[in-house]
Amino acid sequence: MIRTEGLTKVYESKSGRQEALQDVSIHVDKGDIFGIIGMSGAGKSTLLRLIGMLEQPTSGKVWIQGQDVSMLTQGQQKEQRKKLGIVFQGYNLLMQKTVRENVEFPLRLSKTPRTQRRERAQELLKVVGLGDREGAYPAQLSGGQKQRVAIARALAPNPELLLLDEPTSALDSFTTASILELLQDLNKRMGITIVIITHEIGVVERVCNKTAVLDLSRVAEQGYTSEVMANP
Ligand code: ADP
Ligand code: ADP
Repeated sequence: MIRTEGLTKVYESKSGRQEALQDVSIHVDKGDIFGIIGMSGAGKSTLLRLIGMLEQPTSGKVWIQGQDVSMLTQGQQKEQRKKLGIVFQGYNLLMQKTVRENVEFPLRLSKTPRTQRRERAQELLKVVGLGDREGAYPAQLSGGQKQRVAIARALAPNPELLLLDEPTSALDSFTTASILELLQDLNKRMGITIVIITHEIGVVERVCNKTAVLDLSRVAEQGYTSEVMANP
């Protein structure tokens, strides 16, 4: 589903040279809930942006469903990106729009007809447990509810892969549990492959069948979560 090989990203700026990722090779199979865990600054968000084709690597490659994305034109990358639903940190919801309009937004961009858009948004809001809040504005929602809207919006174009950056870091433990349950449910019922970035060991232990540990821009360990976590 996703493979990276020797992925390296170096940021150059006035203040110097920052190696955000060095020689990162990961392998996510269809149906995985794959955790990328590491401390702040380890390179997790950079890895997500490279997989999401939001940035280009300094060297190394990313394959999505067997396709080497560096071989694609910008237009083709845009097409390929539709197979990915990305949930950014901080939800990025449109505050002036209702919950349903937020979920419809990517479908407007792809020029889906109005009735179809509305039905799809309502269906997805039911899936994430917000069927009764479609007319609410983001400011009226709790953190967990905003996260559910962000997930529904990411699912709107029907991606095969969902990438989430720290989906639970701003949530209390009860709300975290309910979001993790939702992700497990999407994985099981819709067969969607999920990549979760987190700094919380509890999150990977609870839902991720596989984990890569990022440490100072490198993959320290990778494999089945039970085996990765069994190592001292
Ligand atoms: P994490 O998500 O694990 O906290 P990041 O991928 O955000 O780590 O960052 C890894 C390193 O790269 C950090 O030292 C960060 O400051 C640096 N970095 C990330 N993005 C940029 C950027 N756009 N320009 C310069 N340095 C960056
Ligand atoms: P996260 O909270 O996921 O670790 P960061 O706070 O590291 O994310 O990064 C937030 C944004 O700021 C990202 O778009 C990243 O590219 C940018 N960024 C991070 N570190 C730096 C840096 N040292 N210089 C410039 N931009 C940075």
